[in-house]
Amino acid sequence: MLTEDTHTDPWKRIDERAPTAEELRKAREPRVPDALTFVNVEVSSACNSRCPMCPHGYSDMGRSGRPGLMSLDVLERVLANVRANCTLVNLYLFGEPLLHPELPRMVEMTRALGMAAATSTNGILLTPDVAAELRRAGLKTLCVSFDAITRESFERLRGGGHDRVWGNLEALAAERERLEYPELTMRVVKTRERDEEVEPFLDRIAALRIFRSVTFCSFYPWPGQDVTRFEPLKRWSKEKPCRCVYGPMNILSDGRGTICGFDSGGEMATADLASRTLVEELNNEATLRLRRMHLDADRKSIPLCASCEGPAVVSRTVGVALDSFAGGSAEHRREVVAAMRKL
Ligand code: SF4
Ligand code: SF4
Repeated sequence: MLTEDTHTDPWKRIDERAPTAEELRKAREPRVPDALTFVNVEVSSACNSRCPMCPHGYSDMGRSGRPGLMSLDVLERVLANVRANCTLVNLYLFGEPLLHPELPRMVEMTRALGMAAATSTNGILLTPDVAAELRRAGLKTLCVSFDAITRESFERLRGGGHDRVWGNLEALAAERERLEYPELTMRVVKTRERDEEVEPFLDRIAALRIFRSVTFCSFYPWPGQDVTRFEPLKRWSKEKPCRCVYGPMNILSDGRGTICGFDSGGEMATADLASRTLVEELNNEATLRLRRMHLDADRKSIPLCASCEGPAVVSRTVGVALDSFAGGSAEHRREVVAAMRKL
Protein backbone atom coordinates (compact mmCIF):
# COMPACT_ATOMS: atom_id res chain seq x y z
CA MET A 1 0.00 0.00 0.00
CA LEU A 2 1.20 3.50 -0.78
CA THR A 3 0.60 5.81 2.17
CA GLU A 4 -0.37 9.45 2.31
CA ASP A 5 2.22 11.91 3.60
CA THR A 6 0.33 13.81 6.32
CA HIS A 7 3.01 16.47 6.55
CA THR A 8 2.29 18.13 3.23
CA ASP A 9 -0.81 20.17 4.02
CA PRO A 10 -0.95 21.90 7.39
CA TRP A 11 -4.72 22.53 7.17
CA LYS A 12 -5.89 19.27 5.70
CA ARG A 13 -6.73 17.29 8.80
CA ILE A 14 -7.74 19.67 11.55
CA ASP A 15 -10.70 21.10 9.66
CA GLU A 16 -11.97 19.17 6.63
CA ARG A 17 -14.03 22.21 5.55
CA ALA A 18 -11.00 24.48 5.41
CA PRO A 19 -9.41 25.05 1.99
CA THR A 20 -6.23 23.12 1.34
CA ALA A 21 -2.93 24.91 0.80
CA GLU A 22 -3.18 24.12 -2.93
CA GLU A 23 -6.70 25.59 -3.13
CA LEU A 24 -5.50 28.76 -1.39
CA ARG A 25 -2.69 29.11 -3.90
CA LYS A 26 -5.01 28.60 -6.84
CA ALA A 27 -7.59 31.05 -5.42
CA ARG A 28 -4.78 33.60 -4.95
CA GLU A 29 -5.93 34.11 -1.37
CA PRO A 30 -3.24 35.56 0.93
CA ARG A 31 -5.15 34.89 4.18
CA VAL A 32 -4.91 31.36 5.56
CA PRO A 33 -7.19 29.51 8.02
CA ASP A 34 -6.49 29.89 11.73
CA ALA A 35 -6.27 26.22 12.64
CA LEU A 36 -3.10 24.39 11.68
CA THR A 37 -2.56 20.64 11.89
CA PHE A 38 1.04 21.14 12.90
CA VAL A 39 3.82 23.64 13.53
CA ASN A 40 7.54 22.98 13.26
CA VAL A 41 9.67 24.01 16.23
CA GLU A 42 13.46 24.28 16.05
CA VAL A 43 14.59 22.79 19.36
CA SER A 44 18.20 22.78 18.12
CA SER A 45 19.74 24.79 15.32
CA ALA A 46 23.00 22.89 15.80
CA CYS A 47 23.77 19.68 13.96
CA ASN A 48 26.29 16.90 14.50
CA SER A 49 26.53 16.17 10.78
CA ARG A 50 28.03 18.22 7.98
CA CYS A 51 26.02 17.23 4.95
CA PRO A 52 27.33 19.11 1.90
CA MET A 53 23.74 19.59 0.61
CA CYS A 54 22.54 21.44 3.75
CA PRO A 55 23.23 24.96 5.14
CA HIS A 56 24.26 23.33 8.40
CA GLY A 57 26.80 21.30 6.50
CA TYR A 58 27.93 24.48 4.77
CA SER A 59 28.08 26.14 8.22
CA ASP A 60 25.97 28.86 6.65
CA MET A 61 23.11 29.35 9.08
CA GLY A 62 23.31 33.12 8.61
CA ARG A 63 22.21 33.91 12.17
CA SER A 64 24.91 35.67 14.16
CA GLY A 65 25.54 34.26 17.60
CA ARG A 66 23.98 30.93 16.54
CA PRO A 67 23.59 27.97 16.39
CA GLY A 68 21.79 27.33 19.63
CA LEU A 69 19.32 25.32 21.63
CA MET A 70 15.77 26.47 22.37
CA SER A 71 15.29 27.23 26.08
CA LEU A 72 12.47 25.65 28.04
CA ASP A 73 11.18 29.13 28.81
CA VAL A 74 10.84 30.00 25.09
CA LEU A 75 9.24 26.62 24.37
CA GLU A 76 6.74 27.10 27.19
CA ARG A 77 5.63 30.45 25.74
CA VAL A 78 5.52 29.10 22.17
CA LEU A 79 3.40 26.12 23.20
CA ALA A 80 0.99 28.37 25.10
CA ASN A 81 0.65 30.55 21.99
CA VAL A 82 -0.07 27.75 19.52
CA ARG A 83 -2.09 25.30 21.64
CA ALA A 84 -5.56 26.63 20.78
CA ASN A 85 -5.02 26.26 17.02
CA CYS A 86 -2.71 23.33 16.51
CA THR A 87 -2.88 19.57 17.15
CA LEU A 88 0.70 18.43 16.53
CA VAL A 89 4.04 20.00 17.41
CA ASN A 90 6.87 18.74 15.27
CA LEU A 91 9.90 19.31 17.52
CA TYR A 92 12.17 19.62 14.54
CA LEU A 93 13.04 22.24 11.97
CA PHE A 94 16.70 22.92 11.25
CA GLY A 95 19.48 21.08 13.11
CA GLU A 96 19.49 17.82 15.08
CA PRO A 97 16.89 17.56 17.91
CA LEU A 98 18.67 14.73 19.77
CA LEU A 99 21.46 17.21 20.59
CA HIS A 100 19.03 18.92 23.01
CA PRO A 101 19.50 17.35 26.47
CA GLU A 102 15.94 18.37 27.48
CA LEU A 103 14.16 16.85 24.48
CA PRO A 104 12.16 14.31 26.58
CA ARG A 105 11.06 17.17 28.85
CA MET A 106 10.01 19.17 25.78
CA VAL A 107 7.89 16.24 24.63
CA GLU A 108 6.24 16.09 28.07
CA MET A 109 5.52 19.83 27.99
CA THR A 110 3.87 19.48 24.59
CA ARG A 111 1.76 16.52 25.70
CA ALA A 112 0.74 18.31 28.91
CA LEU A 113 -0.93 21.01 26.79
CA GLY A 114 -2.94 18.44 24.85
CA MET A 115 -0.93 18.39 21.63
CA ALA A 116 0.82 15.42 20.05
CA ALA A 117 4.61 15.59 19.71
CA ALA A 118 6.76 14.25 16.90
CA THR A 119 10.36 14.74 15.93
CA SER A 120 12.97 13.74 13.38
CA THR A 121 16.61 12.70 13.65
CA ASN A 122 19.61 11.98 11.46
CA GLY A 123 20.08 8.80 13.51
CA ILE A 124 23.63 9.46 14.74
CA LEU A 125 22.62 9.60 18.43
CA LEU A 126 19.63 7.28 18.16
CA THR A 127 20.27 4.42 20.58
CA PRO A 128 17.58 2.03 21.86
CA ASP A 129 17.58 3.78 25.26
CA VAL A 130 17.17 7.23 23.69
CA ALA A 131 14.20 6.03 21.63
CA ALA A 132 12.63 4.31 24.66
CA GLU A 133 13.03 7.43 26.79
CA LEU A 134 11.25 9.52 24.16
CA ARG A 135 8.44 6.99 24.08
CA ARG A 136 8.10 7.18 27.89
CA ALA A 137 7.88 10.98 27.58
CA GLY A 138 4.95 10.55 25.19
CA LEU A 139 6.52 11.08 21.74
CA LYS A 140 4.08 9.96 19.06
CA THR A 141 6.29 9.64 15.99
CA LEU A 142 10.03 9.59 15.46
CA CYS A 143 11.16 9.99 11.86
CA VAL A 144 14.64 8.82 10.94
CA SER A 145 16.08 10.76 8.02
CA PHE A 146 18.18 8.04 6.45
CA ASP A 147 18.58 10.17 3.33
CA ALA A 148 19.63 7.59 0.76
CA ILE A 149 18.91 4.10 -0.55
CA THR A 150 22.48 3.04 -1.23
CA ARG A 151 25.63 3.40 0.85
CA GLU A 152 27.20 5.33 -2.05
CA SER A 153 24.36 7.89 -2.14
CA PHE A 154 24.33 8.17 1.64
CA GLU A 155 28.05 8.96 1.76
CA ARG A 156 27.65 11.50 -1.07
CA LEU A 157 24.72 13.32 0.54
CA ARG A 158 25.86 13.09 4.15
CA GLY A 159 29.63 13.17 3.74
CA GLY A 160 30.00 9.85 5.65
CA GLY A 161 28.56 8.01 8.64
CA HIS A 162 26.47 5.29 6.95
CA ASP A 163 27.75 2.44 9.14
CA ARG A 164 27.16 4.27 12.41
CA VAL A 165 23.55 5.11 11.59
CA TRP A 166 22.85 1.64 10.19
CA GLY A 167 24.45 0.14 13.32
CA ASN A 168 22.04 2.19 15.47
CA LEU A 169 19.07 0.89 13.51
CA GLU A 170 20.26 -2.70 13.96
CA ALA A 171 20.67 -2.06 17.71
CA LEU A 172 17.08 -0.78 17.87
CA ALA A 173 15.92 -3.88 16.05
CA ALA A 174 17.85 -6.15 18.46
CA GLU A 175 16.10 -4.55 21.46
CA ARG A 176 12.61 -4.29 20.00
CA GLU A 177 11.17 -7.08 22.21
CA ARG A 178 12.57 -5.56 25.42
CA LEU A 179 11.91 -1.86 24.83
CA GLU A 180 8.99 0.18 23.55
CA TYR A 181 9.67 2.84 20.94
CA PRO A 182 7.58 5.69 19.49
CA GLU A 183 6.08 4.98 16.08
CA LEU A 184 9.16 4.89 13.84
CA THR A 185 9.07 6.13 10.26
CA MET A 186 11.86 6.71 7.77
CA ARG A 187 12.38 9.49 5.25
CA VAL A 188 14.66 9.04 2.25
CA VAL A 189 15.69 11.49 -0.45
CA LYS A 190 15.34 9.92 -3.88
CA THR A 191 18.36 10.76 -6.01
CA ARG A 192 20.04 8.69 -8.70
CA GLU A 193 19.21 5.19 -7.53
CA ARG A 194 18.35 2.58 -10.10
CA ASP A 195 15.00 0.79 -10.09
CA GLU A 196 16.58 -2.51 -9.08
CA GLU A 197 17.99 -0.93 -5.91
CA VAL A 198 14.59 0.07 -4.50
CA GLU A 199 13.17 -3.36 -3.60
CA PRO A 200 16.27 -4.69 -1.77
CA PHE A 201 16.41 -1.46 0.23
CA LEU A 202 12.77 -1.69 1.32
CA ASP A 203 13.18 -5.39 2.16
CA ARG A 204 16.22 -4.55 4.29
CA ILE A 205 14.30 -1.87 6.23
CA ALA A 206 11.19 -4.07 6.59
CA ALA A 207 13.36 -6.91 7.98
CA LEU A 208 14.34 -4.71 10.94
CA ARG A 209 10.66 -4.84 11.99
CA ILE A 210 10.81 -1.48 13.74
CA PHE A 211 9.60 0.94 11.02
CA ARG A 212 5.98 1.47 10.05
CA SER A 213 6.65 3.22 6.74
CA VAL A 214 9.24 4.76 4.46
CA THR A 215 8.55 8.08 2.73
CA PHE A 216 10.61 8.87 -0.35
CA CYS A 217 10.83 12.52 -1.35
CA SER A 218 12.32 14.24 -4.34
CA PHE A 219 15.45 16.33 -3.93
CA TYR A 220 14.74 19.99 -3.13
CA PRO A 221 17.38 22.73 -3.18
CA TRP A 222 18.07 25.24 -0.44
CA PRO A 223 17.95 28.93 -1.53
CA GLY A 224 21.08 29.93 -3.38
CA GLN A 225 22.40 26.38 -3.57
CA ASP A 226 23.72 24.76 -6.73
CA VAL A 227 22.64 21.18 -6.22
CA THR A 228 23.22 19.82 -9.70
CA ARG A 229 26.26 17.92 -8.42
CA PHE A 230 23.84 15.92 -6.26
CA GLU A 231 20.86 15.61 -8.52
CA PRO A 232 19.57 16.91 -11.88
CA LEU A 233 16.41 18.82 -10.94
CA LYS A 234 13.01 18.53 -12.58
CA ARG A 235 11.57 21.96 -13.16
CA TRP A 236 8.24 23.60 -13.75
CA SER A 237 7.00 27.17 -14.19
CA LYS A 238 8.83 29.69 -12.05
CA GLU A 239 5.81 31.96 -11.86
CA LYS A 240 3.65 29.89 -9.51
CA PRO A 241 3.52 31.19 -5.93
CA CYS A 242 5.89 29.15 -3.83
CA ARG A 243 4.17 26.35 -1.88
CA CYS A 244 6.25 27.32 1.17
CA VAL A 245 4.31 30.53 1.83
CA TYR A 246 1.21 28.35 2.33
CA GLY A 247 3.05 25.95 4.59
CA PRO A 248 3.01 25.59 8.38
CA MET A 249 4.51 28.13 10.77
CA ASN A 250 8.20 27.35 11.31
CA ILE A 251 9.34 28.51 14.75
CA LEU A 252 13.04 29.21 15.26
CA SER A 253 14.88 28.46 18.51
CA ASP A 254 14.43 32.07 19.74
CA GLY A 255 10.65 31.96 19.18
CA ARG A 256 10.51 33.89 15.90
CA GLY A 257 8.31 32.40 13.21
CA THR A 258 8.95 32.17 9.47
CA ILE A 259 6.58 30.84 6.81
CA CYS A 260 9.46 29.50 4.73
CA GLY A 261 10.69 26.05 5.71
CA PHE A 262 14.02 26.81 4.02
CA ASP A 263 14.64 30.08 5.86
CA SER A 264 17.32 28.68 8.16
CA GLY A 265 18.81 32.16 8.62
CA GLY A 266 15.49 33.68 9.79
CA GLU A 267 15.67 36.34 7.04
CA MET A 268 11.93 36.10 6.40
CA ALA A 269 10.84 35.81 10.05
CA THR A 270 7.66 37.89 10.31
CA ALA A 271 6.18 36.41 13.48
CA ASP A 272 7.00 36.19 17.17
CA LEU A 273 5.44 33.10 18.71
CA ALA A 274 7.19 33.66 22.04
CA SER A 275 5.08 36.81 22.50
CA ARG A 276 1.94 36.51 20.37
CA THR A 277 -0.52 33.78 19.45
CA LEU A 278 -0.55 31.73 16.29
CA VAL A 279 -3.86 33.32 15.26
CA GLU A 280 -2.37 36.80 15.59
CA GLU A 281 0.74 35.85 13.62
CA LEU A 282 -0.48 33.60 10.78
CA ASN A 283 -2.04 36.54 8.95
CA ASN A 284 -0.22 39.54 10.40
CA GLU A 285 0.56 42.41 8.03
CA ALA A 286 4.18 41.41 7.34
CA THR A 287 3.23 37.80 6.61
CA LEU A 288 0.36 38.83 4.33
CA ARG A 289 2.74 41.13 2.46
CA LEU A 290 5.10 38.21 1.75
CA ARG A 291 2.26 36.02 0.46
CA ARG A 292 0.95 38.87 -1.73
CA MET A 293 4.41 39.41 -3.23
CA HIS A 294 4.46 35.74 -4.22
CA LEU A 295 0.93 35.91 -5.62
CA ASP A 296 1.85 39.00 -7.64
CA ALA A 297 4.93 37.22 -9.11
CA ASP A 298 7.11 39.68 -7.22
CA ARG A 299 9.04 37.17 -5.16
CA LYS A 300 12.35 38.30 -6.66
CA SER A 301 12.00 41.45 -4.51
CA ILE A 302 12.45 39.26 -1.43
CA PRO A 303 16.22 38.71 -1.13
CA LEU A 304 16.06 35.07 -0.02
CA CYS A 305 13.42 34.16 -2.60
CA ALA A 306 15.38 35.90 -5.37
CA SER A 307 18.15 33.32 -4.99
CA CYS A 308 15.82 30.34 -4.60
CA GLU A 309 15.01 27.64 -7.16
CA GLY A 310 12.34 26.16 -4.87
CA PRO A 311 9.17 27.21 -6.72
CA ALA A 312 10.65 25.94 -9.99
CA VAL A 313 11.28 22.43 -8.75
CA VAL A 314 8.87 19.53 -8.77
CA SER A 315 8.55 18.21 -5.24
CA ARG A 316 6.70 14.97 -4.58
CA THR A 317 6.59 12.27 -1.93
CA VAL A 318 5.76 8.57 -2.05
CA GLY A 319 4.95 6.78 1.19
CA VAL A 320 5.32 3.00 1.43
CA ALA A 321 3.67 0.98 4.24
CA LEU A 322 6.31 -1.65 5.06
CA ASP A 323 3.94 -4.39 6.26
CA SER A 324 2.06 -4.50 3.01
CA PHE A 325 5.25 -4.13 0.96
CA ALA A 326 7.07 -7.01 2.69
CA GLY A 327 4.13 -9.36 2.22
CA GLY A 328 2.93 -7.77 -1.00
CA SER A 329 2.42 -9.19 -4.46
CA ALA A 330 4.90 -8.76 -7.31
CA GLU A 331 2.41 -6.32 -8.85
CA HIS A 332 2.36 -4.16 -5.73
CA ARG A 333 6.16 -4.09 -5.64
CA ARG A 334 6.24 -2.98 -9.28
CA GLU A 335 3.72 -0.24 -8.42
CA VAL A 336 6.03 1.10 -5.70
CA VAL A 337 9.05 1.14 -8.01
CA ALA A 338 6.99 2.89 -10.70
CA ALA A 339 5.85 5.56 -8.22
CA MET A 340 9.45 6.10 -7.15
CA ARG A 341 10.53 6.57 -10.75
CA LYS A 342 8.25 9.63 -11.01
CA LEU A 343 9.95 11.46 -8.15
S1 SF4 B 1 21.82 15.86 9.28
FE1 SF4 B 1 20.14 17.13 8.48
S2 SF4 B 1 20.31 19.11 9.54
FE2 SF4 B 1 22.27 17.99 9.85
S3 SF4 B 1 23.64 18.76 8.22
FE3 SF4 B 1 22.62 16.88 7.47
S4 SF4 B 1 20.76 17.56 6.38
FE4 SF4 B 1 21.52 19.27 7.64
S1 SF4 C 1 10.95 30.90 -2.92
FE1 SF4 C 1 12.43 29.75 -1.67
S2 SF4 C 1 13.02 31.18 -0.06
FE2 SF4 C 1 11.11 31.96 -0.96
S3 SF4 C 1 9.43 31.11 0.28
FE3 SF4 C 1 9.79 29.68 -1.41
S4 SF4 C 1 11.26 28.15 -0.62
FE4 SF4 C 1 11.31 29.95 0.73
